[in-house]
Amino acid sequence: MRKIVFGAVCAMGVLAGCSTELDRRQAFIPDTELQMVDADTMRVTYRLDRPAPGLAFRRVTDGQRAERWVPLDEGFVLNHGGDRDYVQRKDGDLFTEIAFDIPATFIRLPQDYSPFMPYRDGGLLIHSGRFQACVRSCGIVEQGTVFPMQLIPGEGQHIILDGEVLDGPVRWDDVDDGTMVYLGAAEPIETDYVVAVVDQALPADLSTALDDLFPALMAYYTERLGALESKPMLFAALDRHTEADGNPDSNNYSNQGGVLPNQVFMHMSGDGWLETAQVRGPQITGFVAKFFAHEAAHLFQTGSGAAFSTNDAWIHEGGAEALALVALRELSAAPDDYLRQWQEQAVDNCLLGLADGGLRSATERDVFNLHYECGMIIQLSADQEIRREGKGDIFTIWRAFRGRIADGEPWNEDTFLSVIEAEAGRETRELAGDILSGSEMVTRARLLAAIGI
Ligand SMILES: [Zn+2]
Repeated sequence: MRKIVFGAVCAMGVLAGCSTELDRRQAFIPDTELQMVDADTMRVTYRLDRPAPGLAFRRVTDGQRAERWVPLDEGFVLNHGGDRDYVQRKDGDLFTEIAFDIPATFIRLPQDYSPFMPYRDGGLLIHSGRFQACVRSCGIVEQGTVFPMQLIPGEGQHIILDGEVLDGPVRWDDVDDGTMVYLGAAEPIETDYVVAVVDQALPADLSTALDDLFPALMAYYTERLGALESKPMLFAALDRHTEADGNPDSNNYSNQGGVLPNQVFMHMSGDGWLETAQVRGPQITGFVAKFFAHEAAHLFQTGSGAAFSTNDAWIHEGGAEALALVALRELSAAPDDYLRQWQEQAVDNCLLGLADGGLRSATERDVFNLHYECGMIIQLSADQEIRREGKGDIFTIWRAFRGRIADGEPWNEDTFLSVIEAEAGRETRELAGDILSGSEMVTRARLLAAIGI
């Protein structure tokens, strides 16, 4: 992501021989303006140089945009169909400007991040990628396509973008999956390993856990997987709203984390987080530690800057679970009982999901949790076998896999399984294959033995 003034893109292009193809594509990208209307409402306005028949949105995972984005002008309609969200005039006329008001609240999206993560202390984290749009279709988007964006803060708010605190409206060139931008009054805290924007309203024990455990985890991973190219940003929000998603547990504890290049973010909601540590109990202490360790692990799976493939999610999600478990065990950062239960539950849930098919079909069967649970078992079994042979541990696998990716091999199942076979032997590779295909040879006893419990 580069923060340069809109218009400089083409000037730079001219210096480099001005790519007419890129310019042609850029003509299909509107100028996007985000402005806080009030504490819980964001207005997004799209402006085009030339009249167009409609705008399509780049990130579509369900129909929530059509429900939540309200056009200011009733002459427009936003429809969701298939994997497309599309806005046009009801009378079919061309237009150059369209604006929507959107509730700036957290939503759960299948396999994407919420566009908004409110902080209890009044701040707001915004995922810019959700606002990327294109004339007619985003099929024209290629690497290098720039989505010019501007964010206008409300009264008493500043913006934190790319580690910098900025006053007033800020423009940037959004690219790829977008970035997390903070709006509010909090100042970032810079430490040796991370620049953090932590909700001031987090209970003391949670913010202490973040302050102590997160740097310890970063140091631990850095020692084993190498330093990140630049200091990542950490955002942690305790939502001021309680989720109304029909899940009774949400009233207590709910959480979602994620990573974008060089950024990790954690969203917590539910009043349970405000209880004292004693009331929350050791389960939640373990859970919080796991949450931090999982998200921090993601940063090291690629090295900073790169993004992992969302195909074969068991590689990065199962990997983050396995790396987190090993890290918490070695740092003594979670109760032993908790770590054991976590593994046993992963075995049971993985087996349950394999009854109807392999890990390979988990996404299409709508059992995405198998990527975490079965993926964790595969990688813990590799860890166990490499340790038994005295040749290293799970980090040996990840260093080798990252090396293969750096050498140009694809981020996929074949490359990962080939690394498992090279480092952890044929038997571990066969277990992974059986889990991926859902073979009847996968039994509880075999899985427990493989991970050493
Ligand atoms: Zn994850």
